[in-house]
Amino acid sequence: MNGAVCPDPRPPTSDLRPPTTDTSMTAHKQVSLPVVERFQHPRNYGPLDRWDGHARITGPCGDTMEFWLRIAEGRILQANFTTTGCGTSRAAGSMATELASGKSLPEAARLEQQDVLQGLGGLPEESEHCALLAANTLKAAIGDYEARQQTTQRCDECSDARCVAKHRGQEESEQEFHERQALAQRMCQIGHKLVVMSGKGGVGKSTVAASLAISLAAAGKQVGLLDVDIHGPSIPQLMGLDGGHVLTHGEELVPVQAAPNLKVISIGFLLANNRDAVIWRGPMKYGVIRQFLKDVAWGPLDYLVIDSPPGTGDEPLSVAQLVGQPAGAILVTTPQELAVADVRRSVSFCEKVSLPVIGIIENMSGLTCPHCGGQIDLFKVGGGERLAREMNVPFLGKIPIDPQIVTCGDSGAPYVQRFAASPAAQAFAEVVKHVLAAG
Ligand code: ADP
Repeated sequence: MNGAVCPDPRPPTSDLRPPTTDTSMTAHKQVSLPVVERFQHPRNYGPLDRWDGHARITGPCGDTMEFWLRIAEGRILQANFTTTGCGTSRAAGSMATELASGKSLPEAARLEQQDVLQGLGGLPEESEHCALLAANTLKAAIGDYEARQQTTQRCDECSDARCVAKHRGQEESEQEFHERQALAQRMCQIGHKLVVMSGKGGVGKSTVAASLAISLAAAGKQVGLLDVDIHGPSIPQLMGLDGGHVLTHGEELVPVQAAPNLKVISIGFLLANNRDAVIWRGPMKYGVIRQFLKDVAWGPLDYLVIDSPPGTGDEPLSVAQLVGQPAGAILVTTPQELAVADVRRSVSFCEKVSLPVIGIIENMSGLTCPHCGGQIDLFKVGGGERLAREMNVPFLGKIPIDPQIVTCGDSGAPYVQRFAASPAAQAFAEVVKHVLAAG
């Protein structure tokens, strides 16, 4: 990870007790007394059993900060935090919780990095990002609370008489009807569902899904990224959230906050080890995909990007059937004929399940030789573009091969932001423009 070097080693993430000594920090001459006090004895350290708002953010420095808020009558009664970061991170989290406690929500939401720094009497320049992470995590926890408060429109209050969730089906039990309505209410809060699909594995579907979610969030949209690739969930690793766990709030699953306006949940968070092969029976696959769509507390979103399982089998079928409208598919392929043939099937699949195709992306489309600058068409080029023409669906762009995509993916760094000027990131940016323009 990039960013400033922390002045001391990190405590183990599983240890939620505040450390009492931190010799490397005391050796640090530039820190003020409030900082020293708080890195040795951070206030409000540790999770709350009962909470109303929660957020967990991993900053560009790699530190993960987590906030829990108890809120009543528009005021923060208690704010607690944990961090995997160093002494200054503990001091910043501590100060942010102290500043937030007792404040009204609008007052607390206005707290900025500068307020945390001021409360601490400053931090060494290389550690100022800790104050930003604390302020952002606080804001995200308030946002989480507010999202929960927004009353989900109940189906019986909704004026859309044509909605299929309004009436119980003849064959449907009360329980089935209740669950179908719960799913519909959840999906109703989401502006657009973007189902990222591919004909086969390994073509870059998850990379595209993650990059799309990051780019839409960077464009100011409220975004959720849902990884239901139940056989190979790779979103946790691509997003630098490997080892992340899912919190529950009542019956809801709480997504991981990757940025103030980007929430992530992956089936991988629920597996003991997401590299373990899992054998899912058919009904289990449908059940787990449905549970994810129904129970994740996203709050209102502009976009939900869904990393769907590859192929045209039961799992993508479940996704297509469950998400409801408005939704559209983004099909990812590599350029060679073998892969393109699979995407042809994906286009037909989308037609059959009435899922509009937003467009086709041709990934791994050519490579610029790092030595001579010449073009190497490793998997050929143009197959995806030709298919889009042939099937009369939009073509969203060609993304070239870039070895940095692999490096970033392996280390959980956002390629599209870190290498924003690269040809591949620029190609992603064009794709995002198409998606935004599609509505
Ligand atoms: P899928 O979800 O289709 O199985 P992934 O997104 O997991 O595929 O990508 C498979 C591998 O290919 C990953 O290591 C990823 O970093 C790499 N990759 C994806 N797109 C590119 C690209 N344009 N250039 C180089 N490597 C890529």
